Amino acid sequence: MVLIKKQLVNSTRSGYPGINGRKFITIHETANTSPGADAQTHANLQSNGFTASWHWQVDDKEAIQSFEHTARLWHAGDGRGDGNMNSIGIEICVNRDGDFKKAVENAAELVKKIMKDEGIPQTNVVQHHRWSSKNCPTNLRNGSKGIDWADFNRMISSARGDTSEGQPKQPVTTPSAPKPRWTKVTGKWSGQTLGKGEYGEPVRQLQTKLSNNNPQFYPNKQATNNGIDSYYGDDTEDAVRRFQSYYGLSVDGLAGKQVYNKLNSNKTPTNSGTSLPNTVYRAIRPYPSGSGVRAVQEALASVYYYPDKDAKNNGVDGVYGPKTADAVRRFQLTHGLAADEIYGPATKKALENVMN
Ligand SMILES: [Zn+2]
Repeated sequence: MVLIKKQLVNSTRSGYPGINGRKFITIHETANTSPGADAQTHANLQSNGFTASWHWQVDDKEAIQSFEHTARLWHAGDGRGDGNMNSIGIEICVNRDGDFKKAVENAAELVKKIMKDEGIPQTNVVQHHRWSSKNCPTNLRNGSKGIDWADFNRMISSARGDTSEGQPKQPVTTPSAPKPRWTKVTGKWSGQTLGKGEYGEPVRQLQTKLSNNNPQFYPNKQATNNGIDSYYGDDTEDAVRRFQSYYGLSVDGLAGKQVYNKLNSNKTPTNSGTSLPNTVYRAIRPYPSGSGVRAVQEALASVYYYPDKDAKNNGVDGVYGPKTADAVRRFQLTHGLAADEIYGPATKKALENVMN
């Protein structure tokens, strides 16, 4: 079975009100061929408040769920038609450093599972094209990668869990409470051992410290936010191993007291010395400006929520304009805050927690 993971979007902005009727499964391709544009990158895009929205993204390694199936999202381009209102959207990644055939196989397994979970017949597994005539999923429609829509349907028919003739016998009942792959950890990271399979705020703090270290040990420099996503997966384990190896610690991929102490002794003074203002900033003209705003921008940038990554100094300019407000919104979205784009006490506290 394809590796399945949940990274639910903490926002109600990306869809229609009401409950999805779950009558169809709609297949898309991301059309993003950039290296690294994998499922994790697209999940992060959704977590950061991307305007379009879909339930799942799947690549050659894993399937990541961004929304519950009950959500009505914006993926089909048919307004309030069956595509958006009554179908579950799956994006198959087409990043050129990925294995497209494997991604399609994983998608077929995922589709099979959703068909079973939601009682959807295979005849209702449809192309995005059905709803809005968009040429999507492009590669499966034209077979240009050696695998087409008919192949995909055959893969679904024979995907694991199928009980038809000729297949190895599978248990018919699905376990009611599958063991979760991710174990949630909470609180502040103060050196308690963290390891693969855990997710939560302490993991995010570890990832941030690794990325702030000099030299830097990003979980995944190709990914959104350099891979700082609160999940202790392969990338974070690898970053910890590289860190341990660099500093001559025993290399076990676990972040415990030794790693914690080493990370703290290497703390860069620019981040620890920042003191954030006790005030409220809104992006309303005339825009607030000055050293307080600059401190907020530097804090955001230090945890990779840049005001403007393409601008000089990552957009740290001492002015609380729309781009800084957007960085605040992205930060708020991923830290369980109301995404109101306003810097105030709650955002200050969350920023301090992440930086310390
Ligand atoms: Zn599509």
